[in-house]
Amino acid sequence: MDNARTVDVDDLRARCEGLVAAPGDQAYDEVRRAWNLAVDQRPALVAVPESVADVVAVVTFARERGMRVAPQGTGHNAGPIATLENTVLLKTEKLREVEIDAAGRRARVGAGVVWAEVTGPTSEHGLAPLAGSSPDVGVVGYTLGGGLSWLGRRHGLAANSVLAIELVTAEGRVVRADRDNEPELFWALRGGGGSFGIVTAMEFVLYPAPEVYAGMMLWPWERAGEVLRAYVEWCRTAPDAISTSARLLQVPPLPDIPEPVRGRQFVAIDGAYLGDPASGAGVLAALRALEPVIDTFAPIPAAALSHIHMDPEHPVPCRGDGMILDDLTPAAIDALVRVAGAGSGSPLLSVELRHLGGALAAPPAEHGALAKLTGSFAFFAVGMVMDPAMGEAVGAHVDHVIATLDPWDAGRRYMNFSERAGAPEAFFPEGTLRRLQAVKRAYDPADVFSANHPVTPAA
Ligand SMILES: Cc1cc2nc3c(=O)[nH]c(=O)nc-3n(C[C@H](O)[C@H](O)[C@H](O)COP(=O)(O)OP(=O)(O)OC[C@H]3O[C@@H](n4cnc5c(N)ncnc54)[C@H](O)[C@@H]3O)c2cc1C
Repeated sequence: MDNARTVDVDDLRARCEGLVAAPGDQAYDEVRRAWNLAVDQRPALVAVPESVADVVAVVTFARERGMRVAPQGTGHNAGPIATLENTVLLKTEKLREVEIDAAGRRARVGAGVVWAEVTGPTSEHGLAPLAGSSPDVGVVGYTLGGGLSWLGRRHGLAANSVLAIELVTAEGRVVRADRDNEPELFWALRGGGGSFGIVTAMEFVLYPAPEVYAGMMLWPWERAGEVLRAYVEWCRTAPDAISTSARLLQVPPLPDIPEPVRGRQFVAIDGAYLGDPASGAGVLAALRALEPVIDTFAPIPAAALSHIHMDPEHPVPCRGDGMILDDLTPAAIDALVRVAGAGSGSPLLSVELRHLGGALAAPPAEHGALAKLTGSFAFFAVGMVMDPAMGEAVGAHVDHVIATLDPWDAGRRYMNFSERAGAPEAFFPEGTLRRLQAVKRAYDPADVFSANHPVTPAA
C-alpha cells in the first residue's frame, strides 16, 4: 500500500487540477523537498492543490484508500514527522492569496503564504501581524504551533490573535471555524498544531506599529558570560513593549552574509521596541553601556523586522531543538557558555534565549489551546548539516546543551521550537491534551491527518 505505484494515481489526477507526483515521476524530487534540506521526505504521493476543491479531492481520495494526509506549507518543521509511508504530502504552496483590510486591522491569507508576503503590505499602513523572526516561515504552520513574534511580549502569541480559520475536515467538509462556528475546533487549531484538518485560509488581527525601534547588538563571544548575565538581569525589568533574543552565534563564512559578521563568533542581542526611538534607546541603555562592537538598533519599518535576526531566507540543511527555560541563574549562564561558547568546541551555529513573559504569559480571555508560554526564555540550539557526520556532531551537541540546561527546564516544550518528535504531554498540560484529543476524535477519528507534532484520537 505504501508503494505509490500500487495507488491509482491517475484517479487522483483526474479529480485534482493541481500537480500530483509519485515516486519515479520527474517532478517528485522537486516537490517532495522540505525547506529544511536535511530532511529527506519520501511520501507515497505529493499533491500540490491549486484550490480548496483540490484539497477536498486529495483528502477524499486518501480517506477512501486508508491513506493519510500530511499538510505542509514550507517544511521548516518537517523533521519531527514520524513517517510519510502510505501518506499524501499535501503542499499548500499554491494557496497564496493575501487580503489586507487596513481599516479593519485584519488580514486573510491562503495556507501557502509566508510572512514576508504579509509584513510588506501591512507595514505600508503602519500595521504589523504577529510574525516571527523569519520572512519565509509559513503563516499557517507558525500560527497553528503558537507563534512567537517580536511583538509577542506586547500582544501575545499569534495563535491567540486569529479571528477565523477555513479548513477541510477528514470527511471532506469545508468549514469556517471561529468563535461562533465550530468553537471547539477553533480552540484546538489555535496552538494545537496540524492534526485537525487541512487549513486553507486564516484570518488574524493586525496591530498598529507606526514606530519600531529595532536591530541587533554584537559583542565578541569571549564576553558571552558577562553579556548574558547582564541580559538576563535586564530582562527582569524590561517593559512588555520590547521583545528580544540573546544568542551565541558562530556565523558561517558564506558569501551572502554581510562582511562585518561573516565567519565570526559573537554574543548577540536583537529585538524590537514598539515605540519612539528616544524611549527605545532609554530601555536599551543598560545593554548599550556594555559597548557592543556593532549596534544596528534604529527606527525601522515594521516589514524590516523579518530581517534583524539574520535567519536564512532560503532552504538550508539544519538540525536543532529547543526547550523552555525558567529563570536563569548566573550558574545557568556559566553552564551554557561552557558548552556552547568560546573554547567549547561547539559545532552549533546558534544557541538562543528568546525572552518570554509579558503578554506571552498572560492568556487573553478568549484563547486557543496554547493559552500562553510559561517560563522565562524559549531556548533553541541549531547547527548547519552539510553531511551525515556533521549531522551526528550537531545532533549530539544539541543533546549535550539541552542536558546541561536540564536543571533550569521549565518542564514544557514549545512546538515551533521543537524539531524532533516529542510526546504530546511535553507540549500541553494534561487537561488541554485531553480536550485536544476529544476534538481530534470528533473531527478526525480515523487519524487521517499526520502532523509534525501529532495529537492522536486516543481516549
Ligand atoms: C529560520 C527559522 C526561524 C523561525 N522563527 C520562529 C519565530 O520567530 N517564532 C516562532 O514561533 N517560530 C519560529 N520558527 C519555527 C516555525 O514557526 C515552525 O517551524 C513552524 O512549524 C513553521 O511553519 P511552516 O508552515 O513554515 O512549516 P511546515 O513544516 O510546513 O509546517 C509545520 C507543521 O504545521 C502544520 N501545517 C502547516 N500547514 C498546514 C495546513 N495548511 N493545515 C494544517 N496543518 C498545517 C503541519 O502539522 C506541519 O507539519 C522558525 C523556524 C526557522 C527554521
